[in-house]
Amino acid sequence: DLLLDVARVRKDFPILDREVHGKPLVYLDNAATSQTPRQVIEVFDHYYSQMNANIHRGLHTLADEATAAFEGTRETVRAFVNAASTREIVFTRGTTEAINLVAQSWGRANLGPGDEVLISQLEHHSNIVPWQLLAAERGFTIKVIPVDERGALDQDAYRDLIGERTRLVAVNHVSNALGTINPVAEMARVAHQHDALILVDGAQAAPHEPIDVQAIGADFYAFSGHKVYGPTGAGVLYGREALLEAMPPWQGGGEMIATVSFETPTTFAAIPHKFEAGTPAIAEVIALGRAIEWVNSIGLEHISAWEHRLLEHATESVAAVDGLRVLGTAPDKAGVLSFVVDGVHSQDIGLLIDQLGVAIRTGHHCAQPLLAQFGVDATCRASFAAYNTPEEVDVLVESLQRVISMLR
Ligand code: PMP
Repeated sequence: DLLLDVARVRKDFPILDREVHGKPLVYLDNAATSQTPRQVIEVFDHYYSQMNANIHRGLHTLADEATAAFEGTRETVRAFVNAASTREIVFTRGTTEAINLVAQSWGRANLGPGDEVLISQLEHHSNIVPWQLLAAERGFTIKVIPVDERGALDQDAYRDLIGERTRLVAVNHVSNALGTINPVAEMARVAHQHDALILVDGAQAAPHEPIDVQAIGADFYAFSGHKVYGPTGAGVLYGREALLEAMPPWQGGGEMIATVSFETPTTFAAIPHKFEAGTPAIAEVIALGRAIEWVNSIGLEHISAWEHRLLEHATESVAAVDGLRVLGTAPDKAGVLSFVVDGVHSQDIGLLIDQLGVAIRTGHHCAQPLLAQFGVDATCRASFAAYNTPEEVDVLVESLQRVISMLR
């Protein structure tokens, strides 16, 4: 049985004991940020009380210990995504910075007039705007893979859109707005048949299913620590070694150089450090490593199976809510339930349900083009994590019924 001991899981999350407006917190905004287990919170106390030092350049004990913990996390992350080498793991602030790194380094060096970048209608703004900014400067064209009425990417349209001008396909693995899981391995195969690269935005996938960048065939893969039970401020760009080797630096500064001189050209550090200018978020990265260890201790396949059970229960239960329409009905979905209710504003639902202790997200979920396609400018979104329970789903649905009857 692939299920997990949710009572034990919940004990690791001190925040789940708090109340909101006098009601027990029911936290269902995990796609925005997941809560943090005490094992991860403790990293900060330990780091700043025992180990705090700048990494890589010290020859003293604290610097050595901090460096070992920081670089040790690179191996933890490598194993987590099954990269071939730790040289392929670049630490960033998060998914957004990882995608901007690819755009500004690889994109600026490789994209120009006549070239095409394929993104999709399902993208988060962080996988749209970096390409728009660069396209304005470099003069390439952005094309968009459409979604069908279920919120799945139209794979026939993808095969029609991709062509010899396509240099890059940039798509998410799991949609944050609808929960759709995209067939990224198959999409990578198609991209490579056309000699295009594929960047996968894995922000929503990393917390929900085991990631294997080699099995996917991803050239770039990005995710954020704060959605995988880790802290904000630390994220990951995986890049295939040969690509990272060939890419120019992105930001310049300390840590990313080999030699600096006014007489001869400055030379750069080997990958991945070439892409890590300046003092990184050391404690956050170490804490991200601890978060991944926590996830591994539960097992992502157990977490995924549990979340699917919650999603099924929620999908069945909300069917009883009068006038509620679920957006995103693709067969392959992660633990996200996005919906609108006839005659009621999503924002009003979000505000009132918070009064009952239930935290959901309302708005455009940084996916305005997608919502526009569905003819709405906001939805309510409940998203699940390892510590959520079927009882919490019941509280969500009862609270929705109450709130909607008040608003109607
Ligand atoms: N892509 C997706 C699919 C996301 O869900 C998010 C976060 N909502 C991001 C990118 C951006 O991640 P971050 O804000 O951590 O950089």
